[in-house]
Amino acid sequence: MGSYPFLDGCIGVTLESGPSMVPIFSNTEIAFRAKSNAALRRSYWLFKAVEYPWLVRMGSALGRLALQLRLPVQWIIKETLFAQFCGGESIDDCKATVDGLAEYGIGTILDYSVEGLDTEASFDATLQELLRTVEAAGKSAAMPFAVFKMTGIARFALMEKLQQDLLLTDSERAEWQTSLARLDAICSRAHALQVRVFVDAEESWIQAPVDSAVALMMERYNRESPVVYNTLQMYRTDRLSFLSAQVARAKANGYWYGAKIVRGAYMEKERERAKLLSVTSPIYPNKMATDEAYDAAIRLCCENLETVAFCAGTHNEVSCQKLIQWMQLHGIAATDKRLYFAQLLGMSDHISYNLANASHNVAKYVPYGPVRAVFPYLVRRAQENTSIQGQSSRELALIRQEWQRRTRQ
Ligand SMILES: Cc1cc2nc3c(=O)[nH]c(=O)nc-3n(C[C@H](O)[C@H](O)[C@H](O)COP(=O)(O)OP(=O)(O)OC[C@H]3O[C@@H](n4cnc5c(N)ncnc54)[C@H](O)[C@@H]3O)c2cc1C
Repeated sequence: MGSYPFLDGCIGVTLESGPSMVPIFSNTEIAFRAKSNAALRRSYWLFKAVEYPWLVRMGSALGRLALQLRLPVQWIIKETLFAQFCGGESIDDCKATVDGLAEYGIGTILDYSVEGLDTEASFDATLQELLRTVEAAGKSAAMPFAVFKMTGIARFALMEKLQQDLLLTDSERAEWQTSLARLDAICSRAHALQVRVFVDAEESWIQAPVDSAVALMMERYNRESPVVYNTLQMYRTDRLSFLSAQVARAKANGYWYGAKIVRGAYMEKERERAKLLSVTSPIYPNKMATDEAYDAAIRLCCENLETVAFCAGTHNEVSCQKLIQWMQLHGIAATDKRLYFAQLLGMSDHISYNLANASHNVAKYVPYGPVRAVFPYLVRRAQENTSIQGQSSRELALIRQEWQRRTRQ
């Protein structure tokens, strides 16, 4: 039995390890080594502010209104939420962030975070920007992945209709073919440049056509190496069997299965919709069940590394520790490119920087886009830090610890 009893039986293994095997996420000197005192102070006040749900609600509503009325509030947003959670307004703008992360062995995943566009012209424009992110990653070892959402290049309502097996009109069929061509353009470019690309997961009621389209891309482009990765939200009760079937299919057909394993970001929305439609919620009833499914998915990936390459997209320390433990027990090198960890910029630096310090493959999503366009993303980050239990208080405790360490010196 190891010194980490809470990890015993983790993802199905018995632990025999000692403390030195696990990077210590509480090392704040490493966690905040890239932050000046001023940047640390700014992060402190930001996480302090988002602890108050009423403040987040009021700030979001006022910010949205001010942006709609074109009031000069962009600089306030840029100095606060944007500075914490975004890399810049354009790819070039993100250079300092990319270099800063690379200095400490952390990769960047450029995330073009413009949302809510729903016209063919906007999808075409988004495609061009996404291709630029793939090109940028192709030129830089500091960018191991690109990422995008299907709703950035295809119409939400169309995918909803596809999922419901409703008959499409001729023009809708043509529209879906155009969307698939956009998807193929990104994946084929990624394949040519050997850039790995994540397709984010979204609401369950559009996910089926996304899954099918991404599986097709994997069959096409993951023959020699893993290029295309789908995302699996383990809060969904059907995802473990889905993952298992997809891995078996990849194995039988001789291609790599690329997976980003996350818990899932749309829990409240999913539950509300299920209630509204009087159907069973697709989400596990409690956090423990989601955690168990998350562990099981990671175990499944780990046990099939001859077919699977995956990324644990999580801010959960225990999930990261369990995976590291498994790698160590099975002699998988920290630098093995089949396994990656990923976090979001501005969150859980203690995980990212300590993982990188222990030579693990780790990357951060670096969202970017015009302030006005990324505002919904910023609001979600603020809400997440308010609503996810202990998230902002954990960040605050770590910052305080680091502050004390610095002032003691
Ligand atoms: C790099 C990266 C990429 C991501 N990509 C995506 C993506 O493509 N699609 C997507 O949907 N999300 C994505 N996310 C967000 C992710 O799904 C989680 O919402 C977020 O990371 C919090 O989960 P956690 O594992 O970090 O931490 P935790 O704090 O351990 O887990 C919180 C999560 O647990 C689940 N949960 C909480 N309470 C309950 C409950 N009562 N019942 C059931 N489940 C519960 C929810 O999923 C919640 O978000 C991504 C996150 C990261 C870091």
